[in-house]
Amino acid sequence: MAIPPIARVQDDGVLPQAVDVAVIGGGIAGVSAAYFLAKAGRSVAVIEKGVIAGEQSSRNWGWCRVQNRDEREIPLMQRSLEIWANLAAETGGDYGFHRDGLVYVTRSEADMAHWQGWVDMARKYQVHSRMLSAAEARAATPGNDGAWIGGVASPRDGMAEPFKAVPALAEAARRLGVTIHQRCAVRGLDITAGRVTGVITERGRIRAESVLLAGGAWSSMFLRRHGVDLPQTSVRSTVFLTQPAPEVTAGGISTPDIIISRRGNGGYIVAAKNRGRIEVTPAGIRHARKFWPTLVSRWNSVSFGIGTSFFRGPDAWAGNWSFDRPTIFEREDMRTLDPAPSKGVEEPGLEQLAKSWPTLAGTKAAATWGGWIDSTPDAVPVIAPLEALPGLTLSTGYSGHGFGIGPGAGRLAADLILGTTPIVDPTPFRLERLVDGSPIQKPGMI
Ligand SMILES: Cc1cc2nc3c(=O)[nH]c(=O)nc-3n(C[C@H](O)[C@H](O)[C@H](O)COP(=O)(O)OP(=O)(O)OC[C@H]3O[C@@H](n4cnc5c(N)ncnc54)[C@H](O)[C@@H]3O)c2cc1C
Repeated sequence: MAIPPIARVQDDGVLPQAVDVAVIGGGIAGVSAAYFLAKAGRSVAVIEKGVIAGEQSSRNWGWCRVQNRDEREIPLMQRSLEIWANLAAETGGDYGFHRDGLVYVTRSEADMAHWQGWVDMARKYQVHSRMLSAAEARAATPGNDGAWIGGVASPRDGMAEPFKAVPALAEAARRLGVTIHQRCAVRGLDITAGRVTGVITERGRIRAESVLLAGGAWSSMFLRRHGVDLPQTSVRSTVFLTQPAPEVTAGGISTPDIIISRRGNGGYIVAAKNRGRIEVTPAGIRHARKFWPTLVSRWNSVSFGIGTSFFRGPDAWAGNWSFDRPTIFEREDMRTLDPAPSKGVEEPGLEQLAKSWPTLAGTKAAATWGGWIDSTPDAVPVIAPLEALPGLTLSTGYSGHGFGIGPGAGRLAADLILGTTPIVDPTPFRLERLVDGSPIQKPGMI
């Protein structure tokens, strides 16, 4: 089975003629911004080419963590955890959010030094992570007799349910008046006298005071049509969900061999360590120079290849389409990007699971799927108004860790659109850092 069913969101059908804010993309970045904009009394339409949370925002592990993040993201992630913790009470929805902690263990002195450096750096933010001794690492991974020399743990980090959290937030946004339009691609921006004045969709135009682009892996291609360069490329990742199995953790554990996340169905989302695959694509080649330092530092944790993504999908070559004819966003096979899972993840993953936790021997996979993770060169998102196109704000480039930070990012994007005091300093998220020729900072995410 491919990805498990994602909770469906009621669609609002007919497009409004005009709104305060049009949001392109119904992933966590777009939906959470829509929610906060509506809370502030703005009229909002979310326009999604496929279904709400059909792409990355349902395909992830669900981790909501401060631990091991790039320093630039820590304040926003801390705010995001506060929002996650209140969402169910505030909206009455079921997000499956719980704070049962995340644990990383290792056999490597280099990992320990890296994590210690992060814990020391993060102390000034009053983060709750702490280093684990060998005995503590063993105690934090019960049933696994790995020869851990230590680890790092964050008892107040947590996770939410990827198959239902964003749909629940979309329903909450609808109750505040947001309209949701699925199977409706945005072909481009309506621009009048150099200012964005709305969106051109496959079902017609919507006038808007502001537009938020939260298009995930598609944002760079979308912007290229308007002459804006957003350095972005993608990594294909494969995970599987198991059938219900005995509990070895209520949260998430990362070992050098395997990563497991306890899920609401009583099973685990399982990922193999260091199995991301970078496919050579025109977008990748175009931005290769900017990604080079990151690639070098992550060389051993990814594999390279070439596949159909060279010709189809968000990283293929496209940049000059007409708004009067169907675009790539409306192609049936692109409505929801559903990359084939890599072979060689599920079977070895189940074997490793049994080896790591003998009590999980015999556990079967319930579903296996691929996800197309969009990344910026420094692995930090862009959440910022676009100076070159007044009226347009970006919220994109979450680089494999946008689910946890999504509610905070939505609030920040809403603040920037509303012109209210931003919940955190937005400077680290400006686009200019990636395109003004200044040296690109190395990713701080571990
Ligand atoms: C395997 C995997 C594991 C991950 N694990 C974690 C984790 O544990 N924790 C974490 O924090 N993050 C994790 N992530 C990353 C996280 O899922 C993403 O960073 C986050 O979901 C990005 O949200 P988004 O809204 O920016 O993009 P998406 O969820 O991809 O949403 C973008 C949406 O925009 C729509 N769209 C694009 N162009 C158009 C257009 N022209 N018109 C209309 N609609 C359009 C798309 O159809 C899509 O639905 C993981 C990702 C993967 C794949």
